[in-house]
Amino acid sequence: MLTSQKIKETALAAGADLCGIGPMSRFEGAPVEMDPRYLFPEAKSCIAFAFRIPRGVQRGIEQGTQFYQYPSMAYGGINEIFAPSVLYHVGKLIEDEGFEAFLYRNTGARGSVSDMDGAPGNTISPEEQINNNEHDKNKTAHHRTVQFTRATRPENTAPDLQFHFRLAAVICGLGEIGWSKMFLSPEFGPLQRLAFIFTDAELEYDEMYSGKPLCRRCGACVRECPGHLIPKLGDESRTVRINIAGKTIEWGDTDFWKCYAYYTHTGRYYNPFVPKAVWDENKNGDLDLFEGVTDKADEKTVVRAYTALENYFPTWVGYNMAKCGGCIRGCVSALERKGGCMETRFKKPLRTGKAWKMDR
Ligand code: SF4
Ligand code: SF4
Repeated sequence: MLTSQKIKETALAAGADLCGIGPMSRFEGAPVEMDPRYLFPEAKSCIAFAFRIPRGVQRGIEQGTQFYQYPSMAYGGINEIFAPSVLYHVGKLIEDEGFEAFLYRNTGARGSVSDMDGAPGNTISPEEQINNNEHDKNKTAHHRTVQFTRATRPENTAPDLQFHFRLAAVICGLGEIGWSKMFLSPEFGPLQRLAFIFTDAELEYDEMYSGKPLCRRCGACVRECPGHLIPKLGDESRTVRINIAGKTIEWGDTDFWKCYAYYTHTGRYYNPFVPKAVWDENKNGDLDLFEGVTDKADEKTVVRAYTALENYFPTWVGYNMAKCGGCIRGCVSALERKGGCMETRFKKPLRTGKAWKMDR
């Protein structure tokens, strides 16, 4: 007989670090383009899996010594290898019991609305991207929507919707969303990535997290974001507040287009791969977003910046070369030092000295 306990035991044995299960009914109220009930209308249960990000893969970024382990291990490795293999194992268990397992790994699809700002079809499609790659020698990958996709029948939304992973993890009882919009679990703070299975099996459900607040409202994420794009705590005009199954959840309305530029390139003080002269010259104003000339980030400004800095990528791992993670490391450090959920996890804190910054 298929039980929640059996699913969780299988998931942990296969390599997941956390597993929680919630009913699909908790998605009531989600925007249509982000409601996973449109993916598999017969599904009764959502199973969430968390895969820890080893703190040490950010050590190099923390100290300015090494930059590609984080994107390759903690983005690529988890999303492409570790998590799919667990989904595959648990999916087999579910299907051996006669139920269906709709596996949903992280990344690999683009929704019918932009995952940056929710706007429908405002960014280039994969076809346009391919055209760019072939003819314009532009290798950046900014297709954030599949803008020509249409619903296959009137009662549906367009296929390949992207649901809200962090909310789904909350629904499954794994933790909460912090002010920075990162998902926080009691076990790993902000250090995990997520994957899901939807199934038509009815299971025993976890309660949503109701312990001590995981987000300390400390503002470390706000202070340590090089793009200054996470709103100040308490800024009501930039607070997102929603209600899920009776639980109010809120976070800061971060500027994701700006994050898209900064988490990869970080600007002159935190990117040792781009010569100072390039920032100084700021040819054609392509780097205005980093140099404080404009604060307005959108598809156009981000593509300009990526194109201008393309030659300085030290490697290509299939994922953007994240050099930032300031919000994550700031959060880890705060949760270790200020009585947060990571207080007793490591023998030594992440941070023992002052954060680095290039003098230029
Ligand atoms: S990844 Fe970097 S740029 Fe993006 S919100 Fe976090 S600190 Fe800011
Ligand atoms: S850094 Fe502080 S305010 Fe930001 S998400 Fe973490 S605990 Fe919350």
